[in-house]
Amino acid sequence: MCAEDAGDLVCIACPRSCLLRVDPKDPSAVLGAGCERGLEYIESETTSAGRVFTGIVRVEGGARPVAPVRSTTTVPRAELLGVARRLATVSVAAPVAFGDIVFTDPCLGIEFRATGDAPAAAGVNEGRSA
Ligand code: SF4
Repeated sequence: MCAEDAGDLVCIACPRSCLLRVDPKDPSAVLGAGCERGLEYIESETTSAGRVFTGIVRVEGGARPVAPVRSTTTVPRAELLGVARRLATVSVAAPVAFGDIVFTDPCLGIEFRATGDAPAAAGVNEGRSA
């Protein structure tokens, strides 16, 4: 049996994972928070919730077919599916290096950085001078 109700939130600001609940007798009070960050967390979750978006992009000519990426800021939850659809259309040329900005979402202006390398496939850049 799950102890959580639909109105409960688990704070993810630290590993303690406090179960937060708005006091039914006083909607302005939050129960279960182990510290002030929990109050900030439930405030942000109930007003402007967002998530850091992690995914992959296709890499053309790479030793690996994809590179991992993550958004540099949080993406509003209502926009997550749209971002996923747009990111699925992205294809970049190898090489991709950790930290490269590989995509800027055209609707939200949020940048996505590579979180891993995707070197060029052997032979792709051979014969070219730097
Ligand atoms: S309320 Fe504070 S102690 Fe509890 S999980 Fe959040 S940050 Fe950690």
